[in-house]
Amino acid sequence: MNFSFTKEQRMIRDMVRDFATKEIAPKAEEVDRTGEFPIETFHKMGELGLMGIPFPEEYGGSGGDTMSYILAVEEIGKACGSTGLSYAAAVSLGASPIYAFGTEKQKQEHLVPLAKGESLGAFGLTEPNAGSDAGGTRTKAELKGDRYVINGEKCWITNTSFARTVIVTAVNGVDKKGKKKISAFIVPTDSKGLTIRSEYEKMGVKGSNTTELVLEDVEVPEENILGDADKGFHQFLYTLDGGRISIAALALGIGRAAYEAALAYSQERKQFGKVIGSFQAIQFKLADMAMELELASNMIYKAAWLKDNKKPFKKEAAMAKLFASETATRACNQSLQIHGGYGYMREYSIERYLRDAKLMEIGEGTSEIQRLVIAREIGCPKS
Ligand SMILES: Cc1cc2nc3c(=O)[nH]c(=O)nc-3n(C[C@H](O)[C@H](O)[C@H](O)COP(=O)(O)OP(=O)(O)OC[C@H]3O[C@@H](n4cnc5c(N)ncnc54)[C@H](O)[C@@H]3O)c2cc1C
Repeated sequence: MNFSFTKEQRMIRDMVRDFATKEIAPKAEEVDRTGEFPIETFHKMGELGLMGIPFPEEYGGSGGDTMSYILAVEEIGKACGSTGLSYAAAVSLGASPIYAFGTEKQKQEHLVPLAKGESLGAFGLTEPNAGSDAGGTRTKAELKGDRYVINGEKCWITNTSFARTVIVTAVNGVDKKGKKKISAFIVPTDSKGLTIRSEYEKMGVKGSNTTELVLEDVEVPEENILGDADKGFHQFLYTLDGGRISIAALALGIGRAAYEAALAYSQERKQFGKVIGSFQAIQFKLADMAMELELASNMIYKAAWLKDNKKPFKKEAAMAKLFASETATRACNQSLQIHGGYGYMREYSIERYLRDAKLMEIGEGTSEIQRLVIAREIGCPKS
C-alpha cells in the first residue's frame, strides 16, 4: 500500500493551490455576493490546462489522471465553492461522458474545446419530476429522417449559459418489454427551440451558473447521440459515479477551509482571559473536525485510485460522497459555532462555507440516494 502522491500529482496540486490562493480565493466573497459567474477565472484555468486534467493530450487535455483532477477540485473548492462546483460539473459531467462514451468524431469535435477550456461542459439530466429517479425522464427524442427532435424540460443545470453544447438525456423509444429506452444527446446551446431560462435564487454556490433548459422541437442530427443509442441510462449512472468523487473532493475543500479558519480563530480569540482554543470544549470540536476530514480525504483518494486503476469504484465513490458531504456540513457548522457571533456575520466567510457545503449533500445524488447505492452494493435486496 502506497499513501503518497506521485511527483506529477503533487506538481498539479501545488500549481492549482497557488493559482487558487492568488486568483480564486480573493474573489470568492464578491462572487457569492453578486452571484456573478467568474468567467475570467475559467479562461485562466483553461490556459493553465486545468479544464482538461484527466484527458489525454490528443483530446486537448493535460494527460493527467483522476487523482490529479480530484486534488485540483479540492484546492479550487477550498478557495471558492461556486468556482469549484462549476469546475467539477464542467469536467465530470460535461466533458467526461464524451471521453468515456463518445465516438472519435465526437471527441475531436466536442471534447477538445472543453478540455482546452474554450467552452464549459454541462449535463442536463434532472427534470422537474425526475430528480433522484433520473430514469423517470419525460424528455422525448423522436427520430424523424436522419434527425432527432427533442422536447422536454430540464431543471437546475449547471454551466449552461457558458456552454456551447449540453448533454441532454431523453427517452427515444421503448423496448420489447415496454421499458423506456434512454439516450444521451449532444445538443448545441444555440439550437433553434432551446431556451436557457434565467438563473435560480440559490442558498449557496451563488456564483455557479444554474439554469432551466426548455427544449421545444430542438433538432439534432442522428450522429449527436452520445456513443451508442439506448445506452443513456448506463452512461449517466457511470458519469454520476465519477462525478460523486469530485463532489466529495469539493466538499472536502470547503470543509478544510472552515476547519482551518476555526483553528486560526481559536488561537487568537480570547475570552475569560484565555484563547478559546485552550478550552477543552473547543479543542474537542477541532479534533473531531480534523479526524473526520482526514477520513474523508482517505475515502476520496481511494475512490479516485480505484477509478484510475480501472477497478470497480461505485460503492467507494458513493461512500466518499456521502461521508465527505456530511462531514463538510458538520465542519462548517462547528466552525461557525467556534466563531460565535462573528461566524454569523457575512464579513467572515464561515456562513458562506456552510451555505455552499450543504449542496454537496444534494447534488449528484442526495445522501439518501448514496445510502441506497451503498446498500445495493453490499447486497441488500431491492425494496
Ligand atoms: C445548485 C444545483 C446544481 C445542480 N446541477 C445539476 C446539473 O448540472 N445537472 C443535473 O442534471 N442536475 C443538477 N442538479 C439537480 C440535482 O442533481 C438534484 O437536485 C438531485 O439529484 C435531487 O433531486 P431532487 O432535487 O429532484 O430531489 P427529489 O428526488 O425530489 O428528492 C427529495 C427528497 O426525497 C429523497 N428521496 C428521493 N427518492 C428516495 C428514495 N428512493 N429513498 C429515500 N429517499 C428518497 C431525497 O433524498 C430527498 O431528500 C443540481 C441541483 C442543484 C440544487
